Amino acid sequence: MKIGLSPASHQHASTVFEIIRIFLPELSWHELTGDIQEAHLVLEIDIKEEQLMVGIVEGPAIVEQIKEPEPNELKRIIKLAVYRLFTEKLGFKASPWGTLIGIRPTKIVHRYWDQGLNQEEIEKTLQTNYLVERDKVRKLIEITKLQRKFLLSSKGAKNTVSIYISIPFCPTRCSYCSFPSFPVGKGSQEIDNYLKYLIQEIKGVGEALNEARINIQTLYVGGGTPTTLNLEQLNLFLGAIKEYLLQENTAEFTFEAGRPDTINEEKLLLLKKYGISRVSINPQSMCQETLTRIGILHSPDDIIAKFMLAKEIGFDINMDLIIGLPGEGPEEIRHTLKEIGKLKPENLTVHALALKRTAKLRENKAVSLLENQAAEMFAFAEEWCAANDYKPYYLYRQKQIVGNQENVGYFREKPCIYNIQMMEERQTIWGLGVGAGSKIVNPDDWTLINAYNPKDLILYGQRIEEIIKAKVDKIKTLG
Ligand code: SF4
Repeated sequence: MKIGLSPASHQHASTVFEIIRIFLPELSWHELTGDIQEAHLVLEIDIKEEQLMVGIVEGPAIVEQIKEPEPNELKRIIKLAVYRLFTEKLGFKASPWGTLIGIRPTKIVHRYWDQGLNQEEIEKTLQTNYLVERDKVRKLIEITKLQRKFLLSSKGAKNTVSIYISIPFCPTRCSYCSFPSFPVGKGSQEIDNYLKYLIQEIKGVGEALNEARINIQTLYVGGGTPTTLNLEQLNLFLGAIKEYLLQENTAEFTFEAGRPDTINEEKLLLLKKYGISRVSINPQSMCQETLTRIGILHSPDDIIAKFMLAKEIGFDINMDLIIGLPGEGPEEIRHTLKEIGKLKPENLTVHALALKRTAKLRENKAVSLLENQAAEMFAFAEEWCAANDYKPYYLYRQKQIVGNQENVGYFREKPCIYNIQMMEERQTIWGLGVGAGSKIVNPDDWTLINAYNPKDLILYGQRIEEIIKAKVDKIKTLG
């Protein structure tokens, strides 16, 4: 459907665009602002005499009373009016998140707590000002209340950070993958080269942090699949982390071991020896047919075997699963959760399938998003978690996510502190390695600078000196 904007409404185009994309995710900017002669609908926004009118030319409209609102407040009201036009007048399905389109809705709620609003006031604001559904509001309140115990004071955030390290390699590339990941097959030369530069970065940043007497609260090694490294490479890599980054009071050290075909007893024992406390072993689904369909080589039995091994060695374990995989409906989700329930991992992360442009699934059209069943599957997962003592502890949303839902991390006894810090952006996270993002937080006002390492392996190696210098210089100014 092509939607146009009347010329007078162009100044509000970006605000309108954000909301229309909830209903028409494929709509391009050009289609919205382009030639209105070709548009199926032309939107018109008019403000006069303390009235905002958002409507279709010669069609239905929403009218709101406004009284000299601040620019941000005007944006919010326009969004609300566009949203209501689409749901109430044009018959589009409402989103459970209303007009909240950001990735981190919990951050908004933390701001309300900071401002001194009570629970009732926050609930009312979310429901009235943003039209968020009641059960999402309840979830936001529950999660943010729990998270506040882990958020640092502004003084604490000045000298406490976490570290993310990227190992962007996997044995093969999964069809649904949208992460930075290079398939390595049997070759390990590429990894050896990469480790050479990565260890330089670990050393440079680690020395600067220690010199500035900055605490490293958590370490997180992700990817890719970091356990793709062979024993020798792991030894070298973990040795560098131990020497330069791991501190006596580091509270948590996570290592992603997503694919069971990359784990064996020797590797897990080595991880334990180097102080790793938590690993992530990710089934995505416990239905063999689904795994085959999406090109995953492991079986549910492989997952169970590697889970038991990791448990025996003494790790806390996270398991990821995905709702919305092709061919899966409520029945398959029930089966997966029943199987996971037998294993009782410490953490469980329930993702909604997000199809980014790069993922092969999107191209081969084998995907059936089962949009109409998404709400049922999410509701079941949520009920199952509550019944099995899993509590939600972090939440984030993505664009083009199945059912317009969210990704939620659950825990039984211990939440992952890194996930909370990374999501709520109240602590600086230094990202090391290819494609890794750093979030540099200013604890005085909680503003944030994002900085990214190159995504390209060759470029990362070529620019390593400059990458390290930029980080070290910044640490010196903060420390
Ligand atoms: S294991 Fe994860 S990172 Fe690696 S290819 Fe599959 S989805 Fe991507």
